[in-house]
Amino acid sequence: MNKKVLIIYTGGTIGMAVDPDTNALVPFDFEKISRKVPELKKFDFGINSISFNPIVDSSEMSPEIWGKLVKIIEENYSSYDGFVVLHGTDTMAYTASALSFMLHNLQKPVILTGSQLPLGAIRTDGKENLLTALEIAAAHKNEQALVPEVCIYFQDKLFRGNRTTKYNAEHFRAFRSDNYPPLAEVGLHIKYNYPYIRYTTLNGTFSVSTRMDNNISLLKIFPGINEHVIRSVLDAPGIRGVVLETYGSGNAPTSQWFMKALRDAIDRGVVIINVTQCLAGDVEMWRYETGRHLLNMGVVSGYDITTEAALTKLMFLLGNSASMEELKMNLNRSLKGEIKTVNS
Ligand code: ASP
Repeated sequence: MNKKVLIIYTGGTIGMAVDPDTNALVPFDFEKISRKVPELKKFDFGINSISFNPIVDSSEMSPEIWGKLVKIIEENYSSYDGFVVLHGTDTMAYTASALSFMLHNLQKPVILTGSQLPLGAIRTDGKENLLTALEIAAAHKNEQALVPEVCIYFQDKLFRGNRTTKYNAEHFRAFRSDNYPPLAEVGLHIKYNYPYIRYTTLNGTFSVSTRMDNNISLLKIFPGINEHVIRSVLDAPGIRGVVLETYGSGNAPTSQWFMKALRDAIDRGVVIINVTQCLAGDVEMWRYETGRHLLNMGVVSGYDITTEAALTKLMFLLGNSASMEELKMNLNRSLKGEIKTVNS
């Protein structure tokens, strides 16, 4: 039977055009996009599209919009074999991470893509990104999707969504996934990296969560950071979780005032997760004395998680956990392949 893929157009450079009055890039609707890609008609699978209204620059992304996106996927889940989400590149890694936690028992591909140059531009990277993302979203073997995960496809690589980071604002190769290999590499052929693709059991029923608690913050330490700044983050009203970006394998200053600020927050029930500022490698708090004190006071290890995945995982768990024990247990394990543990 012919497969069907749904394109969900949220916005982003891929669908933008130059406004003649301001010279700035502004979004335009999907009908106009598809006219720029006549190749869409050549696929042997069906393609339909839904467009956000209004279309958003990805800088405007929010948990509410992620909720809207997962609802669209839920409503259309049984009618399509795969989904392609067109999204701005700026926050694509956050959305891909969030979706991975909000969609459960996913057995169909959800491929996010976008571009650095609009589809209308002569040298656009958007055409290849869109066409290959569609091909991957429709790819099946024996009625089983080849990549039933939330992914980002960009340039010539398919990455697990919650392992990616946007690292380049100039080059077409805008994303990287330093702690997890690509799920597919694209040249003359699409070469799937099967041992690294996550296949969920076929008997679970697909469902979605839309609750995300954004009472969280991100604290990146640097030499010279002062107590007011630390306190303004940790003591912010309503704060329930903090992603602490530390040095190297999870190290931070040992000064009394710093440790006291962290301990006070933990005593108030704030969850603090330790993530490295490095692009690759793991948090190993036991390794140095400057990490061990964090471990001893109850800071949770982020292992090899990206900051994007840590923030969205924290939002998801704070919004969906019955108790602090359950939340901490889930922070410590791989939910959707976002960290390297026995379950990933
Ligand atoms: N500002 C755009 C966005 O993220 C950039 C892009 O799509 O590359 O929506």
